[in-house]
Amino acid sequence: MPEGPEIRRAADSVEKALAGRAVEDVYFSAATLKPWEARLRGLELRSVDTIGKHMLCRFQDGTRIYSHNQLYGRWWVIRRPALPDTRRSLRMALHSATHSALLYSASDIDVVREKDLGAYPRLVSLGPDPLHPGVDAALVAERMTDRAFLRRGLAGLLLDQSFLAGLGNYLRSEILFSARIDPRASPADCSDACIRRLSRAVMAVTRRSYRTAGITNTPDNVRRLKSRGWSRDEFRFAVFGRQGQACHGCGGEIRRVVMAGRRLYYCGRCQKDPVV
Ligand SMILES: [Zn+2]
Repeated sequence: MPEGPEIRRAADSVEKALAGRAVEDVYFSAATLKPWEARLRGLELRSVDTIGKHMLCRFQDGTRIYSHNQLYGRWWVIRRPALPDTRRSLRMALHSATHSALLYSASDIDVVREKDLGAYPRLVSLGPDPLHPGVDAALVAERMTDRAFLRRGLAGLLLDQSFLAGLGNYLRSEILFSARIDPRASPADCSDACIRRLSRAVMAVTRRSYRTAGITNTPDNVRRLKSRGWSRDEFRFAVFGRQGQACHGCGGEIRRVVMAGRRLYYCGRCQKDPVV
């Protein structure tokens, strides 16, 4: 599933092609949304906002098109009148005079009036998004030590969208490895220094993934591995998907376990803090 950084990058491409322009045509595949096509047609798209994995296309009258890519959704932004070469089913389309933004396969699409946005069920319980400008490591640390989250296992907590919005399975493994923290720990097990390290890793790894289109390994590791001829798939992650391979930090073996129902990758030698 695409995580916050992938959704933000998709939003950037829709925004770059269509924001500030009138949307000349709107298409929804869902019958319940059809009445909105005529109501949105001709309005200017002002911005494409994201909260974690949720996207909101904001029109000049305040109406938002809500979408969530789920597992299979995919955005294409393409110059008109071309269409992508795909057998997927088109769920929604926005067309300006020059470009089309097309969402395929995702079925979690809705239209939300501005007045209903504050109480919109899919957004109301989301935690802060590390990609938002006002969110920093201090805020993440404060949240980790909040009573609501303090005793939760980190492996489950980092996937909980009400804790932080946008983190998913690859970011979870990569953040815990970057902070050298045992995935079995809870914030209550961690020293203040350990909480600070983890909070900085949440911010740094998530933002790095956004900047690099999904590369969470450190720039030093990436340079070193590229010079050895490793492909992007091979150097992209520090631990995720690398079970049985050597840790870039210590040479030990990366292990795969299932925690909170999802696969998690870690180095048992590098991730020993705190002692649990
Ligand atoms: Zn290691």
